[in-house]
Amino acid sequence: MSRIQLEGATKRFGHLAAVDEVSLDIGDGEFLVLLGPSGCGKSTLLRAIAGLAPLTAGRISLDGKDITHLPPRERDLAMVFQSYALYPHLSVARNIGFPLRARGRSKAQVRGKVDEVANVLGLTDLLARRPRELSGGQRQRVALGRALVRDPGAFLMDEPLSNLDAKLRTATRSELTELHSRLGSTFVYVTHDQVEAMTMATRIALLNNGKLEQVGTPAQVYDEPASEFVASFLGAPPMNLLPATIVSRGGSLFAVSSEVEVPLDLTGDVPDTEVTLGIRPEHLRLGGKRRDLLAVVRLLENLGSEEVAHCTVGGARVCVRGPRPLGLATGQTVSLSTTPAHVHLFHRATGRRLLWAPTLSPAPAKEFQV
Ligand code: ATP
Repeated sequence: MSRIQLEGATKRFGHLAAVDEVSLDIGDGEFLVLLGPSGCGKSTLLRAIAGLAPLTAGRISLDGKDITHLPPRERDLAMVFQSYALYPHLSVARNIGFPLRARGRSKAQVRGKVDEVANVLGLTDLLARRPRELSGGQRQRVALGRALVRDPGAFLMDEPLSNLDAKLRTATRSELTELHSRLGSTFVYVTHDQVEAMTMATRIALLNNGKLEQVGTPAQVYDEPASEFVASFLGAPPMNLLPATIVSRGGSLFAVSSEVEVPLDLTGDVPDTEVTLGIRPEHLRLGGKRRDLLAVVRLLENLGSEEVAHCTVGGARVCVRGPRPLGLATGQTVSLSTTPAHVHLFHRATGRRLLWAPTLSPAPAKEFQV
């Protein structure tokens, strides 16, 4: 059992709050991914959980026990680093068995456990080799083995796949997901790679400047981003964001600007409201009866099965993603449309999502909160 709870976790380096009042409840058996851009505080937060970067303020508990001031080796947690941190002069078997020898386990106990872990990770034939005789992916598995051998309550992983090439990353990603479901242990995993986060996480915690921006399942953070930051971090290309004003026309609400007129399927009278309109590239359709956005095609990108058209809508950049070929040419003017269910609205000044539930029912204007 390993439930990790953070309450107001804060880590300062001088005046910089690398982790800023983060409260997070990581359930037993979760695969929680800490995601965010470089420098947002992911590694510092993970190191704080491991005990390698003591908190400036706040509290960390493991299964209800306060571990805030406990030294790293007394926490029932195992850390896997991006750099693998293997001992170059030791064989794979001795690298994996190292934590057990350091704890004074008998030779037979160490051998038994090393064999078991090597079997789980497909390393049995490599036990006699030195790390320099292994590929990047194999080294990463040895580093994982060294964490596994301790049977920790939780695994803390800092960008463990970032040194692998694209193909191996994809393969190791699914291996890790399978390992997680087989072990049923808690995984806390740091990455800046949204694909890793979306494919492996049971929940994603998105950090921005040391603060938690949103926590949710991959579907929640993708489908209902809590802020413009989340909307523009997830998705390839990310969500299109356009300045617009909500206006009422004969009782129906529209998001409008000079090249935009998107119906919202809402009725009511609201004072004109400045928003940022968000539409994912895959939710824009070409042509059709309606002309929600008027775009000029600037560049076409061939992704194999799909194509991305980079366009401009007024002064803003807008991407359309769909099956290839989209049937467009650069320089062409096209009208684009979407469905109200795929429209996201953010407060122009704060960037926070506006409470609005068009898919549940056409919300009356009073539920349109700014
Ligand atoms: P990356 O993806 O690039 O590894 P990250 O999200 O993991 O980034 P951190 O390494 O946690 O970010 O760093 C968060 C902030 O804290 C950064 O601004 C970094 O420069 C700063 N920082 C991290 N460690 C220290 C340190 N030991 N002393 C001073 N500042 C630090």
